[in-house]
Amino acid sequence: MARCRKCRRKKADVFIPHHRLPLCEEHFLEWFEEYLARTVKKFKMFSPKAKILVAISGGKDSLVLWKALNNLGYHTEGLFVDLGIEDFSLISRRVAENFAEELDRPLHVVSIAKEIGLTIPDLKSRTKKYCSLCGSIKRYFFNRFARQNNFDVLVTGHNLDDEASSLLSNTINWQLKYLARKYPVLPEGNGFVRKAKPLCRFTAFEIKEYARLQKIEYLTERCPLSPEATRLVYAELMDELEEKMPGTKIRFYMDYLRKVYPIFNKQVEDFLDRPLTQCEFCGEPAVSSPCFVCKLKAEAKA
Ligand code: SF4
Ligand code: ZN
Ligand code: ZN
Repeated sequence: MARCRKCRRKKADVFIPHHRLPLCEEHFLEWFEEYLARTVKKFKMFSPKAKILVAISGGKDSLVLWKALNNLGYHTEGLFVDLGIEDFSLISRRVAENFAEELDRPLHVVSIAKEIGLTIPDLKSRTKKYCSLCGSIKRYFFNRFARQNNFDVLVTGHNLDDEASSLLSNTINWQLKYLARKYPVLPEGNGFVRKAKPLCRFTAFEIKEYARLQKIEYLTERCPLSPEATRLVYAELMDELEEKMPGTKIRFYMDYLRKVYPIFNKQVEDFLDRPLTQCEFCGEPAVSSPCFVCKLKAEAKA
């Protein structure tokens, strides 16, 4: 492999194709954290003093995000939502707890079995849409915890691969509602906390390399309930395009944000201003009262 572009002395450990950048270990780690800080600034995600809640799953993205933000000196705490998916949840939780201990930062845990009285496998036996329900449940608890504990922002580990493939899927299916929300930062309002995706300009490959060099032990198993999602088809399509034309993912995503997203901006405002009510039982923002989580709780008791 070539020499490091930065120091020109050491042999490069990592080659970043779409930046055409060979870097040694030290300068890759430095590049990664600087690029993360620049992304936070570029999209005005949060201030240096912000109290940040990191959504932790135990996978590479959330752990890398936590580590890099911590290295940059931000005030961070983690939240893990235990979904009760048997061994998978047990192992993910252990990985997250070990990592928090190593990082010496607090990790909070919310268990949906305790909170709702139901687990995701219970929901799977009731509905085919358990994955989208699972996603809504996670968002509900992340939002509630962040707001009740006065965090300034909730950050998630979505990376460029995730963003580009979901953008492709939302565009092919013209899902305007999702396109209107596809921005790396969403402001707080109507009971929702501020949300940001600081890894949105990093590929899964760069994140894996950061994890390897920082010796981060992350969960590699996939959720056993994960269906053969069509989402994967779009991810594979994007990978194919990227291989043939390096730089496609970042160009597709950044051009969307620059050229197309402003058109949807108005819709985002409409979305944030939509007439939401407050759940009379838990106080969370909801389309109607009781909210979907309180309905599930009532079902579990019945
Ligand atoms: Fe939840 Fe598993 Fe579906 Fe992911 S794959 S949304 S963790 S049930
Ligand atoms: Zn170097
Ligand atoms: Zn409620």
